[in-house]
Amino acid sequence: MSRILLISDLHLSGERPAINQRFFDFLHVAARQAAALYVLGDLFEYWIGDDELDAADGDPLGRQVADAFNELSRAGVSVALMRGNRDFLLGQRFCEAAGMRLLNDPFVVQLEGTPTLLMHGDTLCTDDLDYQAWRRIARSDAWQREFLSKPLTTRLEEVRALRERSKAKLESMAAEIMDVNADAVREAFRTHGVARLIHGHTHRPAHHQCEVDGRFCERWVMPDWYERGGYVAIESSVPRLAVF
Ligand code: MN
Repeated sequence: MSRILLISDLHLSGERPAINQRFFDFLHVAARQAAALYVLGDLFEYWIGDDELDAADGDPLGRQVADAFNELSRAGVSVALMRGNRDFLLGQRFCEAAGMRLLNDPFVVQLEGTPTLLMHGDTLCTDDLDYQAWRRIARSDAWQREFLSKPLTTRLEEVRALRERSKAKLESMAAEIMDVNADAVREAFRTHGVARLIHGHTHRPAHHQCEVDGRFCERWVMPDWYERGGYVAIESSVPRLAVF
């Protein structure tokens, strides 16, 4: 029986070694038994550019994570990566080092015969207008070219400053603004013609059911790995949510 695993929002960072270790253990044990592993964004707390992999003064975590995925991939597990809002600068170079396929967001894939829409989830949070405006800037070629042309230390300082600002903002923001917008969810089911959506980002692991144009649709939300961890597993076409 083949098993497909989906994870997201690991937010790996040098600041949380215990979670990083839990993640490496997950790759060595649970993921080894899977046919495929999908990583749907925010693998890293932040990512300042693939060139850090080869930089002598770079954070070694990126290389360690790439190596661990590469080992999994060489063991025969098909591994795919989607970018999140924290690690949207992950690119082809990282994916080659990690032996992964880079997926666009959104991405429709047949999982055990069921057409499934995969997303990170940030594009569904349409009530957060400030974030959506920032997203358009940060995903533009012009912004990325300019950012990536800066020295690694400058990029790191800028990312840390952004994180502080966004933390302060999140604390003052209403909880519903940070969740997905119901219309955006319905629109995603309609646009892609699927009845199953799997995403992360909101850190609200759940199995939601809804009806869209008379069709029964289901939405699975993966947990974050800040203080816990977990995944969505699909076996014999049936999804299951596991939170540690
Ligand atoms: Mn996210």
